[in-house]
Amino acid sequence: MEFHGYTLTQVLAKEEIQNRISEIAAELSEKFHNEVPILIGVLNGSFIFLADLIRALDIDCEMDFIKLASYHGDKSTGTVRLRKDISAEITGRHVIIIEDIIDSGLTIKFIKDRMNDADPKSLTIVTLLLKPDVANLDFPIDIVGFEIAPEFVVGYGLDYDQKMRHLPAIYRLEKE
Ligand code: 5GP
Ligand code: MG
Repeated sequence: MEFHGYTLTQVLAKEEIQNRISEIAAELSEKFHNEVPILIGVLNGSFIFLADLIRALDIDCEMDFIKLASYHGDKSTGTVRLRKDISAEITGRHVIIIEDIIDSGLTIKFIKDRMNDADPKSLTIVTLLLKPDVANLDFPIDIVGFEIAPEFVVGYGLDYDQKMRHLPAIYRLEKE
């Protein structure tokens, strides 16, 4: 597929993504049966995943957002900065972090530490995509939608220079 001079090769089809979301929703609905968790979406990339996921849940839930900026001078020494904090009170609550993709693992580590400081009743981490070959994690990710190769992907919320988020599937981006 061609898009504004880039070649996009599909990595995950619409149907594969939706089927996996149904499975994740079923797992969360069972885990939090009779509870009301707060889902916290990591802006901007997770907004479509979160929107599809909450509509597949069959439990009550609340939601909020957090936004971060990460700077990778070098892969191992990048830093993460908070751009927009959550507004919800999460102390004593079941919190579910909804991330689009884990690459180096730096962003999710920052979020996990920050959420744990507020002393939630439980913290569950869900990511649609994980790049296991590059992620450097010293804690487990509770639910991973798909493991992918360490390539740059776009679509289904994920951007290239703020564009391509609206594409319905997930594609590998190839520059000309
Ligand atoms: P990390 O801190 O794990 O290295 O990176 C996390 C953030 O980098 C993700 O939340 C996402 O915003 C961005 N990112 C990492 N890999 C990709 C990718 O392949 N495509 C896009 N569009 N964003 C990515
Ligand atoms: Mg992100």
